[in-house]
Amino acid sequence: MRKRYISWALIFLLALLAIGAWRITDNKEVHRAEFLMGTYMEITAIGRRAPAAMAAAFERIQEIEARMTHHGQSSEIAIVNDKAGQTAAPVGADTYQVVKKALRYADLTQGKFDPTILPIVNLWQIGSPQARVPQPYEIESSLPAVGYKGVLLDDTHKTIKLAHAGMGLDLGAIAKGYAADEVAAIFRQHGVKKALINLGGNLYALGNNPAGKPWRIGIQDPESNRNEYMAVVEVDDETLVTSGAYERFLEADGVLYHHILDPFTGYPAESDLLSVTIIGKSSIDADALSTSVFVLGLQEGLKLLNETDNTNFVLIDKDLQVYCSAGAGDRFTITNPKYQLAP
Ligand code: AMP
Ligand code: MG
Repeated sequence: MRKRYISWALIFLLALLAIGAWRITDNKEVHRAEFLMGTYMEITAIGRRAPAAMAAAFERIQEIEARMTHHGQSSEIAIVNDKAGQTAAPVGADTYQVVKKALRYADLTQGKFDPTILPIVNLWQIGSPQARVPQPYEIESSLPAVGYKGVLLDDTHKTIKLAHAGMGLDLGAIAKGYAADEVAAIFRQHGVKKALINLGGNLYALGNNPAGKPWRIGIQDPESNRNEYMAVVEVDDETLVTSGAYERFLEADGVLYHHILDPFTGYPAESDLLSVTIIGKSSIDADALSTSVFVLGLQEGLKLLNETDNTNFVLIDKDLQVYCSAGAGDRFTITNPKYQLAP
């Protein structure tokens, strides 16, 4: 009798230990950082299957970079660019989808957002050691090669043709958003419910934080060094993407030239905004939209945002006035008093 009692107690104890171990692995936190897609990426994932999910996520980011970069000669985009003015090139369904989305934003902004900006990007090379201020004649001769209407899509065969020689696609304003959506989807498939995915300013906060509260995300102070915040915003199972002039720039003869270019002038966009933050469910849309609104400027940008459903925003203009959507306002705290909420 006593023996049986002891064995039941033992089984009970083992069961308790197993449940404990299960719960501990449930909170397993994995962290990984890498330089990919031209930026520093940092992901934290929490959950039993976080290690496997993390490996799959980075594999997917590498695959997206290998297909969509305009650098080198082997990516799908590089091949499309190489055949500009000649023939159509087949691309994968993912690249096709990203180009199609980019063209939608080009339409919405009447060409202020333009994924065929590459010839101008290549003149400036802002963000690389070769960055320089081009001569006006160089800009004049490259501008005719920019124009999204020259991107010819074939939905049936999933091919892309650039109509004119010298044209080139650059998905730098949108591909990281796509990658963030893909990483979030991979984590969900693996049952990872909490993660902070930061793909160089394209952030996806999956679920809520380990304490069960919304993630608190700092908004970069656009007038300050990196990692200084001007506000904190709470996000819960959402993406937050910021575009700003401070992200990549070149300083020459006392002038700052930033990386978001005006496809009509060939020079950095003369925006009255310092930064644009978009909060929503789709990171590819938030990425395209944040760059779009930055180029459009405050008035036109607000107009576009008001026509866009389910999107919250925080805009900072050159007078340090902060404009935010009603849905962002209640979970947004300015931490640097030099910034003021616009009346
Ligand atoms: P983001 O950091 O998402 O705002 O995107 C900026 C990047 O998009 C730049 O580094 C360029 O590669 C590219 N780009 C620059 N100007 C434009 C533009 N007007 N439309 C689309 N892409 C652009
Ligand atoms: Mg963008």
